[in-house]
Amino acid sequence: MTLRWARRCKSYVDACQCESPTKQGAPSEQALFGIVQGGMYANLRRESAERTVELDFPGYAIGGLSVGESRDKTRDMIAATLEILPKDKPRYVMGVGYPEEIVQYACMGVDMMDCVLPTRAARHGLLFTSEGRLNIKNSRFAEDQGPADPKCGCKVCSRYSRAYLRHLFVAGEPLAGVLNTMHNLAYYLDTIRAVRHAIRLGNLSGIFQEAYPLA
Ligand SMILES: [Zn+2]
Repeated sequence: MTLRWARRCKSYVDACQCESPTKQGAPSEQALFGIVQGGMYANLRRESAERTVELDFPGYAIGGLSVGESRDKTRDMIAATLEILPKDKPRYVMGVGYPEEIVQYACMGVDMMDCVLPTRAARHGLLFTSEGRLNIKNSRFAEDQGPADPKCGCKVCSRYSRAYLRHLFVAGEPLAGVLNTMHNLAYYLDTIRAVRHAIRLGNLSGIFQEAYPLA
């Protein structure tokens, strides 16, 4: 079914772009990605990848992962699929993940990822920091005047204390979710900046073994 959809989407977009590059629904600046499925079966993942690549998309996504399976399973499925997907096209893993997973998958050759985690976790009081994950509602932060993350330069860390963030959360202030989200997004962006920097230096896996150990 995924392949039938892929074929239908591709012929629709191709036809639109021939007729008029700005026809509604398929502006020419958008790229249609083929999406690889196959559940938790490496052979089905490979078959899906091979048949999707035959359709020749500008990029490829790996879908249906991080849905409750173990991290080892996620990694194995990504690895099996990446073997087939062309290296010169963007390769996108949908719906992941924790910062250390993002680094790991980037090391494996994944170019793009997306996830609700930094914002959803923020709304539940979970902060990603250079010192690990902090549950800001914990009473040990009640008198803590330090920033959420001493190594973070975001507007929240440069202005507010852990004690204040905890107070907002415990008091049920919506601002708690806003500030926690701002910090978590800054942390994720810092992570991706560090990945890009390491790629430029040509030492992606070496640099990250210390900074982003796998949980
Ligand atoms: Zn911060």
